[in-house]
Amino acid sequence: MQATAPLKADLRSTDYYRLPWTINDNILGWLEPTKRCNLYCEGCYSRNDKKSDKSLEQVRSDLQVFTRLRNMDGISIAGGDPLVHPQIVDIVRMVTGEFGMKCILNTNGLALTEALARDLAAAGLHGFTFHIDSSQGRPGWKDKNELELCELRLHYAKLCQKLGLSAAFNSTVFPHTVQHVPALMDWARDHIDVVHGMVFILFRTMRTDQYDYFANGARINADELVYYDQDKNPRELEAREIVARIRQSEPCYDPCAYLGGTKDPNTFKWLLAGRLGRPGKTYGYVGRRYMEIVQTASHLLTGKYLAYSSPKLLSLGQLTSLPFLPFDEGTRRAMKEFARDVVRAPWKARRMYFQSVVIIQPIDVMADGEANMCDGCPDMTVHNGELHWSCRLDERLRWGCNIHAVPKCQAAEALVAAPTRRRAKAPHLKPVTEP
Ligand code: SF4
Repeated sequence: MQATAPLKADLRSTDYYRLPWTINDNILGWLEPTKRCNLYCEGCYSRNDKKSDKSLEQVRSDLQVFTRLRNMDGISIAGGDPLVHPQIVDIVRMVTGEFGMKCILNTNGLALTEALARDLAAAGLHGFTFHIDSSQGRPGWKDKNELELCELRLHYAKLCQKLGLSAAFNSTVFPHTVQHVPALMDWARDHIDVVHGMVFILFRTMRTDQYDYFANGARINADELVYYDQDKNPRELEAREIVARIRQSEPCYDPCAYLGGTKDPNTFKWLLAGRLGRPGKTYGYVGRRYMEIVQTASHLLTGKYLAYSSPKLLSLGQLTSLPFLPFDEGTRRAMKEFARDVVRAPWKARRMYFQSVVIIQPIDVMADGEANMCDGCPDMTVHNGELHWSCRLDERLRWGCNIHAVPKCQAAEALVAAPTRRRAKAPHLKPVTEP
């Protein structure tokens, strides 16, 4: 039987606000104080390395590189899992105190106790982005599907609420879990008062059926990288498919802003939406002008593009939306819906909350082997005193350079054309043997 093509939303980039983030001027930097992790998530870019904890001096040096090369509103601390670093509270304090930036911790939450969360909050932490999904095989949660894991998500969201911290949730989306995305969106809507953001990261694989991979002129075994090959995830996902899925259950869902690809401007590498609603009801989604005004005004007033708002501000949607009414159609629609809701039951107290929804489509490889990266990558990290895409750091650590994909027939032709001279100059270059 022939497989039916997945449904994809017909999105045009010109209908949305192109986020103004660049390498030098961005919302965030991505700090990795360790590569150690206490879980293994499928699709992770990072190799667990037991001896990778950085000292406070090394962390300070990374932060100095960031502040020299990049204007930023905040720092995402990631890894590995940053909570396994024994000095994580000092690192958060360094980011917020010494460097005066917002600090977000990206964690699987496994090592998080209430006492540690309190210490981190006292050190100035803004909030957490929890990575929770069914690919992790978490102790106590093995074999649970995406929806069953919502109980755990809610536990962390409530802990954050108690401490006044923001809470967002990452999930890697695979072809076999994509069906759960609409239900996760429903869950996020039902808890919009404590869930400030949802992030869907589309899984990434090597495509060794289509490409050969090279580093420093030599063919490499791409299996050495941690993420899976196409055998495990044969079908690639893209942001348009996730949009179509969400619209099936929530037709008013519409993104407002995006980052395109470095090679293909027709791809949506980051696709942002801003939902306005109350628990159990979506009033609507903000439009492109909303995000344009937020980013531009923030840069004008503070000199930085805005990364995260405080949970308090996000819970004042009916007030914070007012200035956008003359400019933004999406906000007007949502406010009308809010007003209808109030008229229907005026005796009930109402609050309108803002929740961000982000779809991230990581590096994809073009037909000619070029890598299509997020154009204006917010997650650049520091490696050897330079900024580098965090999703490709492991290539640097393993081979000292980014690896290159070469379509299979080209790889063979290149070596057949000039084998002897190249090999004489580069004796480490192994001849290609086609499978
Ligand atoms: S380029 Fe890589 S590190 Fe940067 S945002 Fe995209 S996926 Fe993340």
